[in-house]
Amino acid sequence: MKPSQQVEKVLEHIKKCSPGQNEFYQAVNEVLFSLLPLLNEDSRYLEYNILQRIVVPERTVIFKVNWLNDKGKIETNLGYRVQFNSTLGPYKGGLRFHPSVNLGIVKFLGFEQIFKNALTDLGIGGGKGGSNFDPKGKSENEIMKFCQAFMLELYRHIGKDTDIPAGDIGVGSKEIGYLYGQYRKITNKFDGVLTGKGVNWGGSKARKEATGYGSVYFAENYLNANDDSLQNKICTVSGSGNVAIYTIEKLYYFGAKPVACSDSRGTIYHKKGIDLTTLKAIKEITRQSLEVYAEIHHDAIYIPVNKYPKGGHAVWHIPCDIAFPSATQNELTLTDVKALYKNGCKLINEGANMPTTPDAIDFIKEKGILFSPGKAANAGGVATSQLEMSQNASMQRWTFAEVDIKLHQIMRNIFDIVYDTSIEFDCKGDLMVGANIAGFKRVADSMIEQGSI
Ligand code: NDP
Repeated sequence: MKPSQQVEKVLEHIKKCSPGQNEFYQAVNEVLFSLLPLLNEDSRYLEYNILQRIVVPERTVIFKVNWLNDKGKIETNLGYRVQFNSTLGPYKGGLRFHPSVNLGIVKFLGFEQIFKNALTDLGIGGGKGGSNFDPKGKSENEIMKFCQAFMLELYRHIGKDTDIPAGDIGVGSKEIGYLYGQYRKITNKFDGVLTGKGVNWGGSKARKEATGYGSVYFAENYLNANDDSLQNKICTVSGSGNVAIYTIEKLYYFGAKPVACSDSRGTIYHKKGIDLTTLKAIKEITRQSLEVYAEIHHDAIYIPVNKYPKGGHAVWHIPCDIAFPSATQNELTLTDVKALYKNGCKLINEGANMPTTPDAIDFIKEKGILFSPGKAANAGGVATSQLEMSQNASMQRWTFAEVDIKLHQIMRNIFDIVYDTSIEFDCKGDLMVGANIAGFKRVADSMIEQGSI
């Protein structure tokens, strides 16, 4: 059977046994088809049934989370931890708290995480977890109660040498604090079981900034490889959470001008450049809507979500040189990418996981727009989480600058391996193919070496 037929067969099987898990199917579809240049050249991966094996998580835990709301009523949510692949090291990947979380979302994120972590070359396997709990509109007390109830079950499945969760959408340093406090209380242990911890109690400096900074380092490397740079580039960034804020911060450092960002309710367009102090105050401290930004800066325009163009998102219809999708999956559609192209956008650099829809990716490739895939461009967060694990294990504390220098170097290495792999397989500049093949090869070769387990 030809490699392309094998790929079709695996996808068919996934469709049958994972019904309704559309995002998971989308992620697997993208990875497997982009592996064809490798599969055509090296028959070992098919001989050892690696494709069939790699798409199945090693372990999936789904559990009930009962917690007490402020009215004294018991609420119930679902919790998930998908331990996808531990060939290269302990499972590592974030926890997402968002009402849209379901098994398909957690599996897509866990699957992507395998290859992302492999690209960092830091000895970490892939996993992901979360809950359909919605932190929006909940009191501090309710968020703490939920985190404690969630950890009451999760603690038995994780460990500093087996599975080390971190944050993701809806899980920032505050939630990690509540989760860690409960873990410590239950187990009577102080160890590095979570990353993204507070810097006073085992967290790494620069972890908070790492995904956004890393995304910008990746973009700069990519532009340099094309005899260009971020200097004086107009940028748009979606989202206004952890990744978006530190992307904007680092863009200023490189002399670029970020003019737009968004949240689930609307978009801000500030032609003279997003004011970072205001953005941080609104989003990191008081967690308000971006509408407040326009109340403070009268020269900024606020576009509410219901004014978005049909099938698209306002933030991508603002003229820019470089777009940084940094909010969530499938947020950059064909309609959006057509607008970006029309407005002269040169590079789309994914800060979020799988933010670009498959038809939008096809259009990007057809038009030759530079494209940095998330599993490479946003790997700075997990890489710095691994640096946090190293510091915990060796009882060391590195300075912000030390961590940032290491992050910078890791992003350079990731860019190099992804770019070089794209050239090796005759897809020069197709970093999606380069990232998928390079990540897959590290994991698959190790799976073969470790035998059938
Ligand atoms: P945050 O929760 O800090 O921020 C998410 C932002 O995206 C918020 O501004 C939120 O709006 C917005 N958003 C979420 N869902 C939607 C939606 N459906 N439509 C429009 N806007 C939306 O998350 P992070 O910044 O940590 O994560 C962003 C992305 O980056 C995710 O894809 C995540 O998986 C990925 N990522 C994160 C890493 C990390 O280290 N944090 C590491 C690697 C990848 P609102 O404020 O209204 O909720």
